[in-house]
Amino acid sequence: MSDTGTHLLILGAGPAGTQAATIAASKGGRVTLVEDQVVGGAAHLWDCIPSKTMAASALRHTSVRNAVKLGLINDPGVVDTKVLSQRIDEITSDINENWIELLGSQTVEIIGGRGVFVSDHEVVVTTQSGERRVRFDKALISTGSGPRVPDWAPVDGVKVLTTRDCYHLDVVPEHVIVIGSGVTGVEFTHIFESLGSEVSLVVSRQQVLPHRDPEVAAVLEEDFLERGVRLVIGARAKGIEVDGETVSVACDDGRRLSGSHALLAVGSVPLSAGLGLEEIGVETDDGYVKVDEYQRTTVPHIYAGGDVTGQMLLSSVASMQGRKIARHALNLPVQPLDYSKVAEAIFTEPEIASVGLVEVQAAALGRKVRTTKVPFASNARSVLQHFERGFVKVTTDPATGVVLGGTIVGHRASELIGVIALAVQARVTAQTLLDTLMVHPSMTEAITDAAE
Ligand SMILES: Cc1cc2nc3c(=O)[nH]c(=O)nc-3n(C[C@H](O)[C@H](O)[C@H](O)COP(=O)(O)OP(=O)(O)OC[C@H]3O[C@@H](n4cnc5c(N)ncnc54)[C@H](O)[C@@H]3O)c2cc1C
Repeated sequence: MSDTGTHLLILGAGPAGTQAATIAASKGGRVTLVEDQVVGGAAHLWDCIPSKTMAASALRHTSVRNAVKLGLINDPGVVDTKVLSQRIDEITSDINENWIELLGSQTVEIIGGRGVFVSDHEVVVTTQSGERRVRFDKALISTGSGPRVPDWAPVDGVKVLTTRDCYHLDVVPEHVIVIGSGVTGVEFTHIFESLGSEVSLVVSRQQVLPHRDPEVAAVLEEDFLERGVRLVIGARAKGIEVDGETVSVACDDGRRLSGSHALLAVGSVPLSAGLGLEEIGVETDDGYVKVDEYQRTTVPHIYAGGDVTGQMLLSSVASMQGRKIARHALNLPVQPLDYSKVAEAIFTEPEIASVGLVEVQAAALGRKVRTTKVPFASNARSVLQHFERGFVKVTTDPATGVVLGGTIVGHRASELIGVIALAVQARVTAQTLLDTLMVHPSMTEAITDAAE
């Protein structure tokens, strides 16, 4: 039975906060949503949406550059950064307005301002028109995360950038030194190179995307090298200097790189400081709010969801956590989130997507799996579209044939992975995948072929 009338106070309107708000309101809860920037959160203002909007432009630009190989034009065109920025602003503002309209129609009260807990049943919000004190029955901390800025990095938003500074640049930078080769670092390497920048990528380990399947990293590295990206392997940045138009990055092995801009992509930090958490008994670990399997903090009527918990820094995960938190807060039946089945993607070109148990994880766990691989070079649609780089890998249980996971490196891998994600969720066998008749010619045929 839903606990209607429960007053849920939500701090932070990113994916976790907005999803929790809409679900709680639709189930009869009374909801107050506090946000100090944009409804939609960092995800919509600085992270997923603007970066993928830029990636969309980058992809089109790459397509035009490659069009000559398909017997078309050979003029790569020019990039208009003004139009790019305007498009990002319009999309962000549309999402913000749509959310405000939806939540308003559900009678969610939205308060613009920064909230701080002053007791375990009360927050004070600093708004433009003064302070507001709001009492609540239950609360959700969904304040997200921000870019990590090491103390040796003099970020100025002009020459030394975080990802948040990339969306309103006046010109395409001449030469960007990207520091960090995790997901964000490789995505922005792809974006800037596609838009016409020279790019040097500082890779602290021996491969890009450390901890990932080396075969996946190898495809991306090959692509980057072919595009002229300079890979600075095995180097850690330890200092940045700006001298007029030149930015130089010093690495711990003595190498020094020069460019026009440096971009920091060295991870994120949770935004939990200054929220009054310690004072009300909400425990954190290295800044991340500690939660149980239902996202309850150490103060059980206060939940935390999204990046501030550090569980899996994805918008999709934050949204799902928000939905589950809303149900739990209203005493509705809910299952804990199964993190082993989360599909994720890296928006380079080729894209990289994975779901479930993949080969490297199985090896780390000492679990026996069967892995089959099909290169897109043997898939008709990929070849005729000139997207033959990459592969599909499907992991199955050797005893039962059940699909456990998969990795796709290729054009639109973020869409194709849905087939494997569904197979994993529904515990489909490789035989069922194999028996599924896909369109010919299509890239999905590579998935069924990999189930062979
Ligand atoms: C460059 C980049 C690209 C990304 N791309 C993707 C992607 O393609 N797909 C994907 O799944 N994930 C992506 N992510 C990760 C994704 O953005 C995060 O996982 C997601 O935003 C986390 O959502 P959240 O609910 O924690 O809140 P956030 O989106 O972080 O929003 C939190 C909100 O809380 C507000 N806030 C903070 N403190 C207070 C306070 N005291 N009072 C009021 N409001 C407050 C903040 O202003 C912010 O608006 C990307 C991340 C980065 C950095």
